[in-house]
Amino acid sequence: MRTIDLRGQRLTRSELLQAMPRAQMGTHEAAELVQPILDEVHQRGAAALRDFGERFDGVRPTNLRVPQEKLQQALEELDPEVKLAIEESVRRSRAVSASQVPEAFHTDLAPGARVSERWIPVQRVGLYVPGGKAVYPSSVIMNVVPAQAAGVQSLAIATPPSKTSEEGLPNGTILATCAILGVDEVYAVGGAQAIAMFAYGAKGSLPQDGDVLCDPVDKITGPGNIFVATAKRLVSGFVGIDAVAGPTEIAIVADSGANPEWLAADLIGQAEHDELAGSVLIVDDEALAQRVQESLLHRVPRTEHAERVTTSLAGSQSGIILTDGIDQSIEVANAYAAEHLEIQTKDADAVIARITNAGAIFRGPYSPVPLGDYMSGSNHVLPTGGTARFASGLGVHTFMKPVEVIEYDEEGLKVLASRINAFAVSEDLPGHGECVLSRFIDDPYDKATL
Ligand code: NAD
Repeated sequence: MRTIDLRGQRLTRSELLQAMPRAQMGTHEAAELVQPILDEVHQRGAAALRDFGERFDGVRPTNLRVPQEKLQQALEELDPEVKLAIEESVRRSRAVSASQVPEAFHTDLAPGARVSERWIPVQRVGLYVPGGKAVYPSSVIMNVVPAQAAGVQSLAIATPPSKTSEEGLPNGTILATCAILGVDEVYAVGGAQAIAMFAYGAKGSLPQDGDVLCDPVDKITGPGNIFVATAKRLVSGFVGIDAVAGPTEIAIVADSGANPEWLAADLIGQAEHDELAGSVLIVDDEALAQRVQESLLHRVPRTEHAERVTTSLAGSQSGIILTDGIDQSIEVANAYAAEHLEIQTKDADAVIARITNAGAIFRGPYSPVPLGDYMSGSNHVLPTGGTARFASGLGVHTFMKPVEVIEYDEEGLKVLASRINAFAVSEDLPGHGECVLSRFIDDPYDKATL
């Protein structure tokens, strides 16, 4: 891994942001590839979805919507050990989601003057579950459990078709997880084309599709590769999206007490996802950085996906950042705004108290990122590419909208009438004032009565 030595440098905010390791292909660069895919699905519906399945996933799905019996069959064929792991993950995720459900509240401002807030679930959501280089049944849980806790009524899942299935069915463990969670609207559609299907809906092209294959959704959530993340960014505004949860990344803030072997393992674990995944170590001890480099040299060739890991660790998005102390390490961590931030330092709580930007924080050596990936109870769909500066991870709140209810009675409005009128006149919108005054005086247009 390359080293970025920031010791002794006092950088401005923009210089610091510039110095952060980032992938060369971001969502802006991928937009040119993705926009034509969105347009074609918008125009040609299911026919385009089958064409893209063949082109990008190597298989033309017989049924774009997975038949109900295939979901049940996948559940029956599920390995019992994996089933136990899924159930444990669901249990913990449900417990955290239950505590996240926001409560309605009201504020009484004066007699007859109340503002209350209701939280309303999004009606129909499209959940993306990645399945290109790796398959992510865990992402089914991370999307579905908070959506169900929020009370979402209509829920659809899209995940790539698998070329190991002649009919182009998605991965069996993903299908079984859908069945465990009671989700029956599942599509064998991946990538940017899945995002287009959710955003615009899709008409059928074969008898088994029906006239309408998929109704449009109100909000799209879920992680994915650069094409999925870019497609979500492009359709956002037309439909809601959770955040840009693209190629994954880890940053670890470590000091001399951290275990170099564990640090190396954690950097590799993240790099395994994608050639574009980012693995960043922020460390104030040069000797520790050296030991991590040595550990990587003997670990990487022995890991299953050595080639992908090597590409990812050597990419512009990865690196070891040398700092001159914990203060600078914290400054760098906040500038990088990692999706996953591990804190492996002496006083972890003091460091965490000063973290302002991170998708999720993993405290101490026994809270590694894969714990959160699978079954800590927290959510693994998290903002990437520095967007943790303004976005947060998926949760029950993602699937709900707060709506304010304004409840003033005659007394409550009357005491404000002349002030509202003054405001309205100052904005040259006197009709606004008149609509309030009409409730209390006969002729609000007669300036003499005001
Ligand atoms: P994926 O399902 O995201 O992508 C596969 C799809 O990409 C394919 O179906 C295909 O349609 C499309 N595709 C592939 N090559 C293409 C090309 N050249 N042009 C257009 N489309 C193309 O699965 P994946 O590739 O394994 O990626 C999963 C991603 O999800 C990884 O980057 C991982 O880091 C990320 N992830 C992120 C989070 C998060 O919360 N940020 C969580 C889990 C996973």
